[in-house]
Amino acid sequence: MKQRLLRWLRYTIALGAHHSGLDFLYRRVTGAGLVVLMLHRLRDEHDPYPLSMSNASFRQLVRWLRERRALVGLEDGLQALSDARAQVNYAITFDDGYRDNLGLLDLADSEGQHEAVPAIVYVATRHVGREPIWAYRLQHAVESRTRDRLDLGALGLGQFDLSQTIDRERLYVLLPPRLKQLEPRELEACVDDLVAQTRPQPASAHGEMLDWQQIRALDARGVCIGAHTRHHVLLSRVDADTAQAEIVGSQADIADAIDAAPAHFAYPNGGAADFGERDMRIVRDAGFATAVTSIEGTNRRGVDRYRILRHNVHEQRYRAPSGRLSQALFFSETSGLLGWLRTRRAA
Ligand SMILES: [Zn+2]
Repeated sequence: MKQRLLRWLRYTIALGAHHSGLDFLYRRVTGAGLVVLMLHRLRDEHDPYPLSMSNASFRQLVRWLRERRALVGLEDGLQALSDARAQVNYAITFDDGYRDNLGLLDLADSEGQHEAVPAIVYVATRHVGREPIWAYRLQHAVESRTRDRLDLGALGLGQFDLSQTIDRERLYVLLPPRLKQLEPRELEACVDDLVAQTRPQPASAHGEMLDWQQIRALDARGVCIGAHTRHHVLLSRVDADTAQAEIVGSQADIADAIDAAPAHFAYPNGGAADFGERDMRIVRDAGFATAVTSIEGTNRRGVDRYRILRHNVHEQRYRAPSGRLSQALFFSETSGLLGWLRTRRAA
């Protein structure tokens, strides 16, 4: 009940700010900005994580941004920050390298365009053409299971009966934050154990991740390929040698595949606790031009190019209480008053 009320309140504020011109005024006063949208998957299926957006919703977002002439590449958006007359621009990024990101090419095809919309796809190179990162191995283990009992006593989370919706939901809420506390090797061992317990049906023949041929196809049509480490390790949980090998290794893997070193990097998980000064230095010394985080906010003039803020975008986030994707909510939350209020609350 309280959740519903808050959703209505948030929507009402967004509508008010949008239509009264308050949002517009706020943007005029705060000047040039760059909102970097962080997406993961372009697909219509249900996702237990806040990481998927349907193709239809994505097209709608792109249309809105084009109507405002606000859609730019990341580098152009950063350059424009020093232009006093500039507005708030938007750049699009995708993390991890899911196969459904090929929807970027379908969108261009449907518009008769050769070049895709400006976007960066950050790939974890040792997942290319292979197993998805652990979050989706976990989902597969749960949804294609042949055993319902799950014992996570070793992690302090107790027993689960996966035939029960409530237990599955509980698992998706409790397990990911617990796993993120582990060393990379322990984390993989835990997911292996979970797979062993649920004995899922084999995954479908075509995997969930992009392969190198598809990455070259994206690159050939103007989608920028960025690096996201090799194994999607949380950099703050590994030693300096491993961090170096993960960052520079992913750069080399991409350079081999597309004949050009990637200019852009994304920290896995990307929260303030997931990377540090050391990792920012490795990224800069390796020759990357930028690095993005998942810390929320609008980038302003003088932003650290190795600590760029982003907004997580997924199917449910900008929906009006009616269920429709809301332009007022999207713009108010990303570059208007609602975004400002939220950043203040988090600070
Ligand atoms: Zn990632």
